[in-house]
Amino acid sequence: MNRLAVFIAVSVSAVALSTGPAATADPSPGKHGSSARHHAPAKPASESARLARTILNTKAITYANSHVRGKDKASLPKQNLVDVSNGRLARTSPWGHKKGTRVALDTKMLTGVLKLNTQYHYKFEISELVGGEHSKKSKHYAGRAVDVTWINGRHVGKKADHRGLMKACRKLGAKLVLGPGDKDHGTHVHCQW
Ligand SMILES: [Zn+2]
Repeated sequence: MNRLAVFIAVSVSAVALSTGPAATADPSPGKHGSSARHHAPAKPASESARLARTILNTKAITYANSHVRGKDKASLPKQNLVDVSNGRLARTSPWGHKKGTRVALDTKMLTGVLKLNTQYHYKFEISELVGGEHSKKSKHYAGRAVDVTWINGRHVGKKADHRGLMKACRKLGAKLVLGPGDKDHGTHVHCQW
């Protein structure tokens, strides 16, 4: 190959690289996991991953951007869902009783959260999943509880329809539901599966 040919070859591959994976028609699904390197069929996403993705795609469900006690981003509720949707475990906060661990999100809890919107049509904000600080044996640390602070644009404890949402959680199979009137739950609803 003469110099010009080398130059053209390098330029062409540089263009191919710069256009990214979508345009290069890479036949291998290898970017999504080690198993794909051997051309095995991609492992189907787990149910919890699919549920987490669906919740993330539901615009009526929003998320707190900080914890009561600090700003650890890795354990924010939205990040918990992003991690699980990507096949990883959700992270707890670096404080509290189960600091700095990783836990799965329970599919019953995820299904309940999703149906609060799809079946009961609530717009709501999640303040915590596995992050934050809870009681020592809290099911938050087991990925089985959700805290809700805003319901249909109103804060819990300030004229939000917490009773309706609590009732919906129970109908969706939650085993423990707490809210205004219960100790330490004046400003949020806790639903646990
Ligand atoms: Zn809670």
